[in-house]
Amino acid sequence: MKLFLVIPCYNEEEVLPETARRLNEKMQALMANGKIGEDSRVVFVNDGSKDRTWEIICELHEQNPLFSGICLSRNKGHQNALMAGLMTVKDECDACISMDADLQDDINAVDEMVDKYLEGYEVVYGVRSSRKKDSFFKRTTAQSFYRMMKMMGVEVVYNHADYRLMSARTLQGLSEFEEVNLFLRGIVPLVGYKSTTVLYERGERFAGKSKYPLKKMLAFAFEGITSMSIRPIRLIATLGILVFLGSIGILIYSLIRHFLGHTIEGWTFLAVSIWALGGIQLLAIGVIGEYIGKVYLETKHRPKYLIAEYLK
Ligand code: UDP
Ligand code: MG
Repeated sequence: MKLFLVIPCYNEEEVLPETARRLNEKMQALMANGKIGEDSRVVFVNDGSKDRTWEIICELHEQNPLFSGICLSRNKGHQNALMAGLMTVKDECDACISMDADLQDDINAVDEMVDKYLEGYEVVYGVRSSRKKDSFFKRTTAQSFYRMMKMMGVEVVYNHADYRLMSARTLQGLSEFEEVNLFLRGIVPLVGYKSTTVLYERGERFAGKSKYPLKKMLAFAFEGITSMSIRPIRLIATLGILVFLGSIGILIYSLIRHFLGHTIEGWTFLAVSIWALGGIQLLAIGVIGEYIGKVYLETKHRPKYLIAEYLK
């Protein structure tokens, strides 16, 4: 079996040499016990780094044929860099594993992922067994993110980041998703095929700083929801209906006040108008939004189906 590891790197000069050393060890061990072929590779994707990342990748490639590199024209962000790597290698390997350059995700899980692949699974999700090492802040924000995604009707694997094995066929399926707003965690489950999970401990970054500050994290979460779900639009429509129904209650209340004579001239009319009009406006926005949502989903040109088996 020909295994490719795909690793996006953005300003990772501090971690790359050590990462390469550890991955080389791991891959040699896997080759030695015959689990993966000698032609397996580690592919670094340079995502427009401003430091020596690409020079280091070139050096690694010269020293050891195990390492290869892809250099993007400029910084395109984690998801795009990962996709670039996956799509470049998809016809060359039997399976590939994506992981981060900082090796926060325990690379010993690779063994188990390969075993699962050999058992016939086509997607193996790496799942964090605990978040003890994460800060309280990262832990709570991440957990509310997964809960929010669930509420929005997006199918994501709980506590799974972009550490996963995908078979060549899954990569082929992934290539048929034409969307520009990439949220791989949401798309891979849509590809389907037989999948399973592998548990691992997540460690700390051994060098360098996180490339995901709060601002990028929030943007990523927002991207995840808006690129996978049109439920927010539905929520507006629902709110419109509720406010409109509420306005009937306000009408009754206002009429009672009116006939009891507790009001000044014109109050009843104004109070009812505000509620009824507000409700109708929200409802109208929701309905228009629903159509925009449909247009939005159509423009993605996602594949309508992928065939898992064909008996002939
Ligand atoms: N990364 C990238 N492009 C970017 C930002 C990050 O390719 O614009 C890569 C980065 O080099 C790393 C991975 O994405 O391999 C995850 O980043 P990081 O470890 O900083 O995120 P965290 O673990 O803090 O969430
Ligand atoms: Mg990291």
